[in-house]
Amino acid sequence: MDEAPVLDQVLLQPSCRVGADFDAWLWDVGGSGLEAALEDPGRILDMVKAADLRGLGGSGFPTWVKWSAVAAQTGEKYLICNGNEDEPGTFKDRVLMEECPHQLIEGATIAALACGIQQIVFYINPHLTGAIDAVRRALHQWQQSEWPERIARATGFQVVYRVQPSSGHYIGGEETAAIESVEGKFPFPRVKPPYPTEHGVHGRPTLINNVETLSNLPHLLRNGVDWFRRQGLGDAAGTKVYSLSGDVLRPGVYELPMGTPLSDLLYRYGEGMLVGKKLKAVFTGGPSNTILTPKDIDVPMDFESVAARRSALGTGAMIAVSQGTGIVKKVGEYVSFFASSSCGQCPSCKTGTYYMSQLLNRIGTGQGTRSDLDSLINLCTILPGSGRCHLINGAVKVLESSLYHFMDEYEQSLRGPHT
Ligand code: SF4
Repeated sequence: MDEAPVLDQVLLQPSCRVGADFDAWLWDVGGSGLEAALEDPGRILDMVKAADLRGLGGSGFPTWVKWSAVAAQTGEKYLICNGNEDEPGTFKDRVLMEECPHQLIEGATIAALACGIQQIVFYINPHLTGAIDAVRRALHQWQQSEWPERIARATGFQVVYRVQPSSGHYIGGEETAAIESVEGKFPFPRVKPPYPTEHGVHGRPTLINNVETLSNLPHLLRNGVDWFRRQGLGDAAGTKVYSLSGDVLRPGVYELPMGTPLSDLLYRYGEGMLVGKKLKAVFTGGPSNTILTPKDIDVPMDFESVAARRSALGTGAMIAVSQGTGIVKKVGEYVSFFASSSCGQCPSCKTGTYYMSQLLNRIGTGQGTRSDLDSLINLCTILPGSGRCHLINGAVKVLESSLYHFMDEYEQSLRGPHT
């Protein structure tokens, strides 16, 4: 195996990984993206559009579309920086917040400038105590600096920043649930429309962007659109931060050019499977997406290429499992996570995910019947789209793709336990 090449990092380059050390961040061009933004705030949105910056928390939605909707409105507006990372196998935003908090604050400020936003909320999972501490300390230093005054002079308004720990529920990462939570309520997802860009926190237009998305902005503003696009491979733009876990020799957080083949992440950077193990499947984009099997690991990891294999980049979590891993049990664990994370507002989700979990448990422990398997297959057709948010769809997706790729294993489990 070749030695893994030096990573072409942008967000995680050593000069960004200074923790909450304000001087170290300033010393290495910290703030220069914001300088560029202040020179001409009117061009920020155009740059984000031309760069094809996407939502990197899971949606892949074009960032400029949300931004335009918020920028078009007047009066008080909010930005929620979504750091509620909680899905199994997803841990890249924690690293970005702990090690690069100034980059995030700078990025959030650039977004606020572009959209005329006065209130920025860093909404962070309370279990990520290191991330909360780092962002709080960095924010304190930021507020003592010249920046708030300079921004106020340029815009005519004072940007107010605060850190708000979320309630710690997985569902609190859903956009409308985050709004409820920021308002001090339980994070129940809302019916859409209206969308947050029109009716968000306290009824005001609200932009919600993920930590990684916002962290890209200082680099884009400092280096320009052409530079940003060149960071990706082929037609893909920018970089992507991955959380690699499972049965690989070197799990961890990796930033790679957008469009890097999944096989490179697994075998060059992750150094391949544990000794004596062979790859069986990759839970691609976290456990709420479609599984990829070894024949698909040549896929370039960009939004379009992964979608063409009927999967999704999702959060960038890649969980590699080896031969010998019982897929029925593994999927059962993930579906059980979704069942316990359901907020219970939609009867189909509350009962459907619970029922799926029970059936998987029965089949996975060798106590299932043919009728249990038929029920699982049937649930995959009736549940999607029946809830207010995507939780139920995610639970069905992983189940459905496991049935597609590993039906023989389900069949075998009906004849007794399969490890
Ligand atoms: Fe809650 Fe599930 Fe409905 Fe989403 S789909 S709102 S998690 S009950």
